[in-house]
Amino acid sequence: MSSPIYLIGARGCGKTTVGQALAAALGYDFCDTDYFLLQDSGKTVAEIVEQEGWPGFRRRESAALIAVTEPGKVIATGGGMVLAEENRQFMQDNGHVVYLNAPAEVLAARLEAFPDNAQRPTLTGRPIAEEMAEVLAARDLLYREAAHHIVDAMQTPDAVVQQIVNALSLARAS
Ligand code: ADP
Ligand code: MG
Repeated sequence: MSSPIYLIGARGCGKTTVGQALAAALGYDFCDTDYFLLQDSGKTVAEIVEQEGWPGFRRRESAALIAVTEPGKVIATGGGMVLAEENRQFMQDNGHVVYLNAPAEVLAARLEAFPDNAQRPTLTGRPIAEEMAEVLAARDLLYREAAHHIVDAMQTPDAVVQQIVNALSLARAS
């Protein structure tokens, strides 16, 4: 029945913003794997990475994905969730996977407008536009491989929600 909907894509593509609006439109619950991780560990992403390294963060991320998965939920995933094959497979098998696709310049502009450094450690220490281009070059194929549906994330959040509802044929009952 109401399988969970996983939103995937790089930082800034709108997983949290669109996810909350999508959940409201469908009457689903919303959750964010990054937020779950913070609550569960009592640490910020930056602190986990500092204390446990990226492998430690990735282990916690896989556990979070499984922990939050249940029917009737929209799940915003961390940008690197698709890096592990087991995570891609788990999402494919357990719900609808939607890739919010936008070019690196758009992602960079959004992140620069609303910086949140504690929550979003830069991966390389280089300019954000350069970093996003590199991240997308490395991950775009993984996002595409993991996704059941790819939507254009450059439209307004409401329009992105509508694309997802159309793609999943989850028209509102009323
Ligand atoms: P993510 O959770 O994928 O990292 P967010 O939902 O936090 O992305 O969005 C990052 C920033 O981009 C926020 O400031 C948000 O308001 C903005 N944003 C998200 N989606 C859109 C959109 N479709 N159009 C314009 N701005 C957006
Ligand atoms: Mg988010």
